[in-house]
Amino acid sequence: MTVREWRNMSELKLPLAAGPQELFDRIDNTGFEESLGENILTTTVDKAINWARKNSIWPMTFGLACCAIEMMAMSAARFDISRFGAEVFRGSPRQSDLMIIAGRVTNKMAPVVRHLYQQMPEPKWVISMGACATSTGVFSNYALIPVNQVIPVDVFVPGCPPRPEQLIYALMLLQKKIEQQTGTTRAVLNLD
Ligand code: SF4
Repeated sequence: MTVREWRNMSELKLPLAAGPQELFDRIDNTGFEESLGENILTTTVDKAINWARKNSIWPMTFGLACCAIEMMAMSAARFDISRFGAEVFRGSPRQSDLMIIAGRVTNKMAPVVRHLYQQMPEPKWVISMGACATSTGVFSNYALIPVNQVIPVDVFVPGCPPRPEQLIYALMLLQKKIEQQTGTTRAVLNLD
């Protein structure tokens, strides 16, 4: 194509190639971000809050059985969940965002688990770690209860015991869930 032909096409605003409309919209709008300079990002308040939340999920210091050993390994140097901002295990449910049910829940313990969950501030999340927590596992007897019959669960991790990597993957799935939440600002400002 000659320079003259190129100029004519630009003046007539003819499409240069066929392609999805959203791609051209994105290319056409790049000038706006550039005009703001290098140190400015544009986003929504919802996305900013979700980003902060997903990178600071503080779990409760809380374990019910052998799965808790794997949970502890996850926070140690070899696996290092501080990469995800989730290494700050809190000693109080009032300072915790995440409850990891690491082990079997007995009928005797169920009211305690529920009570601790209710003491956590909103927003709060739950990971059911291992076969016992999710379905009473190999024990499957009258003394145990699946945790989703006690409190709502966001992510289930299979295995007996699950590896620390599996728990990290569950944390990443939870991060994805938090990232995709809508109406965050309205909820924060109590507008719903
Ligand atoms: S799933 Fe396995 S490792 Fe975890 S609490 Fe049950 S028996 Fe223990």
